[in-house]
Amino acid sequence: MQIGFIGLGIMGKPMAKNLLKAGYALKVYDFVTDAVDEVVQAGAQRAESNADAARGSDVIITMLPNSPHVKAAVLGEAGALEGMAPGTILVDMSSINPVASKEVCAEVEKVGGFMLDAPVSGGEPKAIDGTLAIMVGGKQEVLDKVNDILQVLGASVTLCGDIGSGNTTKLANQIIVASNIAAVGEALTLGKMLGVEPEAIYKAIRSGLAGSTVLDAKAPMMMDGDFKPGFRINLHIKDLANAIDTGYEVGSPLPLTSTVMGMMQWLKANGHEMEDHSALVRYYEYLAKTDVRR
Ligand code: NAD
Repeated sequence: MQIGFIGLGIMGKPMAKNLLKAGYALKVYDFVTDAVDEVVQAGAQRAESNADAARGSDVIITMLPNSPHVKAAVLGEAGALEGMAPGTILVDMSSINPVASKEVCAEVEKVGGFMLDAPVSGGEPKAIDGTLAIMVGGKQEVLDKVNDILQVLGASVTLCGDIGSGNTTKLANQIIVASNIAAVGEALTLGKMLGVEPEAIYKAIRSGLAGSTVLDAKAPMMMDGDFKPGFRINLHIKDLANAIDTGYEVGSPLPLTSTVMGMMQWLKANGHEMEDHSALVRYYEYLAKTDVRR
């Protein structure tokens, strides 16, 4: 079984390496030649284009920033579609607009291929450990054919519905994470302004109802002023923009998402878009003229 792997960034590179370790033959492509070199050194074959990565591959995995990148890599000039044989399965693991997933799928099916959208949650550490949460959209029989591959990359693989459902689920994930991080920043700032150490608040509440994976991952980063990504503000802006676009299309209200989006735009305008999304606390610190450092 040969896998064409396209997109060797923060997430794609460790995922590709895990597939090599599991014994799969990989043909890899990215614009960034250093990333390609590193994965070739780990045992992959170098592809010269996205079409070339697809040529001879039974499965193609894409791990790219957003909808336009996936459309360019698959449908564009020298894109994967040009190299795909009928029966090939495209597994797009990027977080993109679910409408774009459906559009790409329609083109893939025209050449006799199949597609799943399979975005992930867990970030770089879980990509390295092979313990991502994978949310899948598509047909059960297509998933059955690539399930062993996805099990190498993730701790859980959940079919959420037809094509686009993986990305719809990912949007839900991103809304919940963004609102939670903002709430943590808001609460710690209020505590500080009232004279209670953020560290004491964190310790006191983490085992109660307010405790969460977000609280445990992000409150320490806020208190340390450590905003090394992780998950960058500019990627979270992309996800919230996709959520707001789709919410607008179907008439689903997103007041919390819209508010946090405004805060993230403030961070971007102030030069913080490459920082971890825990930097949302900076918004509160700026307005309250304080900080939550321990
Ligand atoms: P990244 O920017 O580090 O990597 C993306 C890679 O795609 C880059 O190396 C880029 O050169 C390559 N690329 C872009 N267009 C291309 C094209 N047309 N052909 C070939 N290669 C191309 O991004 P990332 O952090 O790895 O994220 C990838 C996806 O995973 C995003 O949708 C992101 O939202 C999602 N995600 C990221 C994290 C995280 O913590 N970083 C967590 C969960 C999900």
